[in-house]
Amino acid sequence: MTPRLIAAIRLDGGRLCLDFVNTIHDRYAVAVEDYLATPERYAEWARRVGAVEADETLALPRSEAGRARLMADMRALRDALYRLLAARLDGFPLPADALRVANKWLLAARKDQVLASDGRLVLRAAAGDASLPLKRIALDLVDTLAGADAGRFKLRRCANRSSCGWMFADTSKNGRRRWCAMETCGTASKMATLRRRSSTRSAVAAQDGRPR
Ligand SMILES: [Zn+2]
Repeated sequence: MTPRLIAAIRLDGGRLCLDFVNTIHDRYAVAVEDYLATPERYAEWARRVGAVEADETLALPRSEAGRARLMADMRALRDALYRLLAARLDGFPLPADALRVANKWLLAARKDQVLASDGRLVLRAAAGDASLPLKRIALDLVDTLAGADAGRFKLRRCANRSSCGWMFADTSKNGRRRWCAMETCGTASKMATLRRRSSTRSAVAAQDGRPR
């Protein structure tokens, strides 16, 4: 299968860290499609979502070992974030091992934070730092948890429980957004409900028509 274009990837999370955990196409699939399967795709995605800004550069490692390490770091942080956000969503305490991973990247991010001349705290990584997006994502997790606590949005998991598993920040007025996106999971789920209803109806009709 040709990998889908990074430009075609849906960004329905509404937050950087949520779009990051949503780079697994379908968490319920047996064979998982990972949007960030190579360092090049990771870099392109990071650029697209703004985890690397226009004046920043990413120098991807050239050695196989370096590339493998970057991918392992990326996957470990993504997995940790997914578990932390899932625990928060489900009302469980945040798992300690996932916290350790997130804290490692937070510490790395804080070491790169400086107070800029405009009085803002900014992340200023070394030129080419390939883990810059991971640092920015770890910082965004903190903002996201704080934003959810402050009631600025609700953290939600897509209501499609058969083939999605994405998470999103619900900023809708009534706070009742159910799907990562109506045009993907919303429509698919409505079609499935209709199919179920019509097959129940035809089963009932078949039963009624059966000779007694
Ligand atoms: Zn969905």
